[in-house]
Amino acid sequence: MSISQNIQLVQARIAEAAVHAGREPASVMLLAVSKTFGAEAVIEAADAGQLAFGENYLQEAIDKQQAVQVLRPDLALDWHFIGPIQSNKTRPVAEHFAWAHAVDREKIARRLSEQRPPELPPLNICLQVNVSGEASKSGVSPDQLPVLAQAVVALPNVKLRGLMAIPEPTDDADLQRKPFALLRQLQRRLASMGIVTDTLSMGMSADMAAAIAEGATMVRVGTAIFGKRDYAK
Ligand SMILES: *Cc1c(COP(=O)(O)O)cnc(C)c1O
Repeated sequence: MSISQNIQLVQARIAEAAVHAGREPASVMLLAVSKTFGAEAVIEAADAGQLAFGENYLQEAIDKQQAVQVLRPDLALDWHFIGPIQSNKTRPVAEHFAWAHAVDREKIARRLSEQRPPELPPLNICLQVNVSGEASKSGVSPDQLPVLAQAVVALPNVKLRGLMAIPEPTDDADLQRKPFALLRQLQRRLASMGIVTDTLSMGMSADMAAAIAEGATMVRVGTAIFGKRDYAK
């Protein structure tokens, strides 16, 4: 299967899950997670109409952006940083991306705001929430989320767009939905405090249908588009 065929299949799965949930297929955006794949793969996806890409590894991502820019200066792509951000890596994220999905500390958000180049629009931010309790180390706890969200909305050069989660993997479709439902409830709780956001970044290759059933507006899909990743390369 080619990348472009895979994108069509994934878009069909997204549409089916959306319709099943009584939602508009267009309300779910596909983010193609291109980590470990090269500029050629990104260009092939872009030629199939996919313009938003997610990356986890900073240097790899920046090299890839530059390679795509050289090969195809006509392409205007949206780059999302979806990996964890160390505080000494905030500047390149602020300079090279349109979105950061895994912000879970005020310090990181503050640095991203301070380091966002003034000629660029505000950096779109999702707060990563730990929806799996003890099992996960990353993400703000649901209890601490409101305080963090309040701090982030006060920053001038970032825009709080919503919440993101990476639940513990499970094959059980009902169990898959629970953490996604929690994230949706947390978004609603923020809205009731006056912090209205439009994005739920949740769902990957193996659990996108469950995420869409619970209101995902952005699914982050790698394997189902590009194939299995080879980290040895
Ligand atoms: C790698 C990754 C994905 C994509 O996962 P697949 O299972 O390959 O679809 C999504 N989100 C994050 C944060 C990732 O690191």
